[in-house]
Amino acid sequence: MSSISPQPGIMDISLYKSGESRIDGVEDVVKLSSNENPFGPSDAALEAFRKSSAQLHRYPSTDHRELREAIGEVHGLDPERIICGVGSDEIITFLCQAYAGPRTEVLYTEHGFSMYRISAQAAGATPVVAPERDRVVDVEAILAKVTKKTRLVFIANPANPTSTMIGSNEIARLADGLPKTALLVLDGAYAEFVDGYDGGAALVDQRQNVVMTRTFSKIYGLGGLRIGYGYGPQEVIDVLNRIRGPFNLSKTQLMTAEAAVRDTEYTEKCRSENARLRAWLAKALAELGVPSDTSCANFILARFTDEEEANACEARLRSDGILVRKVAGYGLPNCLRITVGDEASCRRVVHSIAGFKGRRE
Ligand SMILES: *Cc1c(COP(=O)(O)O)cnc(C)c1O
Repeated sequence: MSSISPQPGIMDISLYKSGESRIDGVEDVVKLSSNENPFGPSDAALEAFRKSSAQLHRYPSTDHRELREAIGEVHGLDPERIICGVGSDEIITFLCQAYAGPRTEVLYTEHGFSMYRISAQAAGATPVVAPERDRVVDVEAILAKVTKKTRLVFIANPANPTSTMIGSNEIARLADGLPKTALLVLDGAYAEFVDGYDGGAALVDQRQNVVMTRTFSKIYGLGGLRIGYGYGPQEVIDVLNRIRGPFNLSKTQLMTAEAAVRDTEYTEKCRSENARLRAWLAKALAELGVPSDTSCANFILARFTDEEEANACEARLRSDGILVRKVAGYGLPNCLRITVGDEASCRRVVHSIAGFKGRRE
């Protein structure tokens, strides 16, 4: 008997869990569960967003030239080798669709971002997980898991939810250690938070097997609008463009992202404010007996004695109107991921955790 059924692998996909945004009965919720920019987008981006409303009857450009050129100018990238998508999630999806499939493997690490697994399974590929070393990506461990079937290796640098990163030499060693049949994908969702870091762009320029993804959802404060991009060798970008829908991005997305990326002064302000508040938050929590690895991103991964204490602290934060992210699903049951909010939010977090620990601040 035949029946309608999805492709193999589809039913194995566990739905993506996003950070919560509501607490019943609480009005002024502090949302620190999705690594959003607490200051929102820049005024220039908002102005472009509003302007786009005059053109809603027009189809958007299909080649995204203006946005690609703006990204190229600001980040020193070749615009011909940029592809824009509906968040960097769409670029990850394109990569899996184009290069992975049944009887191939997609590699990522122990605490890696959950979209790698979901996109690999959606393409019918087999997800393979390499261990990390104390919440840090381990290049040797990844290379040990590579097989003839490996097509894609995903690494976020800095990584989510660990907040740690590895050096450019390590990344280069990984790229050089891969067989010719595998592409290395550097997910640079948090690259802008690292002063002077290019997200792996130079490595992309020097190699034929490295792709970088970036997003407007984090430092640019545009998670709600859904814009990201990929940068890679010409051949790879040409492949991805074949499966990209011609109108995947609206005029509103394109115009807003262009204004956002050009407002480098605002980006710089967000970077320095994040660094300042992140250091303050990490130190205050450490003094309360809640350590975290040195963060390279816009969140910290707070460590507790065990899962029970992490869950109890999450419940306390919640009852104080603060949402953070549980990360047991990422193999980190004794941790909570806390986005660096504005100053008032950071103070509320410390106040709440101090209360939980029965301490004075
Ligand atoms: C937030 C995040 C992204 C961004 O995804 P978008 O689809 O661009 O919103 C990508 N990778 C990682 C690791 C992230 O944490």
